[in-house]
Amino acid sequence: MIVTRFTAALLFATALVPAAADAQTLRRGEPPITEQTQISGGERPAEQAGLRLRHLDLAIEVFPERQRIAGVATLTLTTERTVPRLLIDLDKNLPVSAISIDGRDLAASQWSNPEGQLAITLRRPLRAGATAQVKITYAGTPHVAVRAPWDDGMVWARTQDGKPWVASTSEGYGCDLLYPCLDFPEGEAETVDLHFTVPAGLKAPANGKLVGVDEHSDGRTTWNWHAKSPNPYSLMLNVAPYKEISGSYHSQYGNDIALYFWHLPGHEEGAQGVFDEFAPTLDFFETLIGPYPWGDEKLAIVETPYLGMEHQTINAYGNSFAKSYNGFDDLFQHELAHEWFGNQVTAANWDDYWIHEGYAQYMQPLYGLWREGEARYDVMMDEFRRGIMNQHPIVSGQVRTEEQVYEAENGGPGNDIYVKGAWVLHTLRNTIGDDAFFEVTRRLVYGRPDPKPGNFEPRFSSTREYMDIVNDVTGQNYDWFFNVYLYQAALPKIIEARQGDTLTLRWQVPGDGPFPLPIEVQVDGERQLVDMRGGTATLNVPASAHVLIDPDARILRQSDQIDAYQAYAMRRQ
Ligand SMILES: [Zn+2]
Repeated sequence: MIVTRFTAALLFATALVPAAADAQTLRRGEPPITEQTQISGGERPAEQAGLRLRHLDLAIEVFPERQRIAGVATLTLTTERTVPRLLIDLDKNLPVSAISIDGRDLAASQWSNPEGQLAITLRRPLRAGATAQVKITYAGTPHVAVRAPWDDGMVWARTQDGKPWVASTSEGYGCDLLYPCLDFPEGEAETVDLHFTVPAGLKAPANGKLVGVDEHSDGRTTWNWHAKSPNPYSLMLNVAPYKEISGSYHSQYGNDIALYFWHLPGHEEGAQGVFDEFAPTLDFFETLIGPYPWGDEKLAIVETPYLGMEHQTINAYGNSFAKSYNGFDDLFQHELAHEWFGNQVTAANWDDYWIHEGYAQYMQPLYGLWREGEARYDVMMDEFRRGIMNQHPIVSGQVRTEEQVYEAENGGPGNDIYVKGAWVLHTLRNTIGDDAFFEVTRRLVYGRPDPKPGNFEPRFSSTREYMDIVNDVTGQNYDWFFNVYLYQAALPKIIEARQGDTLTLRWQVPGDGPFPLPIEVQVDGERQLVDMRGGTATLNVPASAHVLIDPDARILRQSDQIDAYQAYAMRRQ
């Protein structure tokens, strides 16, 4: 998801959402959903936590005029522990009419879904390691989003000439708004087959590779797609009378990548402008990070009636073809970054989603640096710095739900997983150097330092694994660095004292643990990197000298001037 662009920028971003005639007869937020359905991730009952989805076959018919869907989902599940029943997440606004397991129909008394978790009684327990194929037929009126993509559900919009323009999101509340699923990050299917049936004249671009389009006698079409390991929330609906721009990118790794933009009719010019950014943005990511992870599927975006979301190989784009003084479409670039940070590497626990958002956020100034140099990078980093709030640690060390992380009002780090995450990475890069930093990054993303198309698989990671990679690549233990920056809310602070010709520097850090982070000091124009082993240093500095600490802002640390600015800005709100 894109950062909610705190303060005034948020209003600006909201205003940019394309004007769409509101076709919704259902009001926003209807039908209401249960607390259970609102939860994505978090602690799961043991019998569900051990389930893994090997394959998902999902067929959905979309009825825009009635604002209904009808689906058949076939989940091929395995279990890591013996379970007496199956627990599958599904909004109860989508009632189930039939279930079969391994081809055998169940009686209606064998399932119930009072609160949004479908419980299926098994004739005999599913043994650890065993597989079951569960076919679920359902239909109903899915929940309408209040403020997509910052909450979730359907958006039943219309194009300017009154045709249906349908989209869904589910990052916050989860996949169970749309289909029966395992609503936690590790619940993603290894492979999926999608079959979306839409009214005549409409298209349904989706994840992965197009297998084919079936035409029916009533004029409707079924769009069949095959994809590898999309996040559960990455499967969604996009239905409209889309026009298509397509092309091909010849990668420096030798493979050719199919490119698409499905946009609304009449938006050709704006869409072509964003499409023209695909190749140069890929040049950047493939050079700095490594191969585009889904080169054998496609790189695509689709125009949506909400701002954006990282839907694997079919990213949602609703940024109105906005121009930015940074020189590129930041919405497109952010969601594309998630193809590496979020879709190729996925945090197994929402608690570690700074890996998705911090990295995606940091890719923006790094792209500014790539395109224009240090000045652009510094300006963009400075913009992020003002938004770091430090109310809660970026990582709690617990199993969390999406909202417990993304929403500061729920006790989560909120936007800090973006902007503070980016500054932590900036500080790390300046501490360990570019070679080590990008090797760490490649190992995080691909699980190996030498990725090439075909030699890596999508993977899960965690903050702990990330720290281990840093320690391994550098040959030193940097746990102290992450213990302060990720696991503590407050920032480290440099305490500076001058007495006569002596300058004393000391790190003051929350938790009072070790913090030997070296820092650059400039004395009368002369720079030196000061060793801070023991968290302190003493320098001989003439009493009359002009001293600057960290003159290039290479380190994230507490700043009185930013604290004062934030307090002032809060008072003015
Ligand atoms: Zn994001």
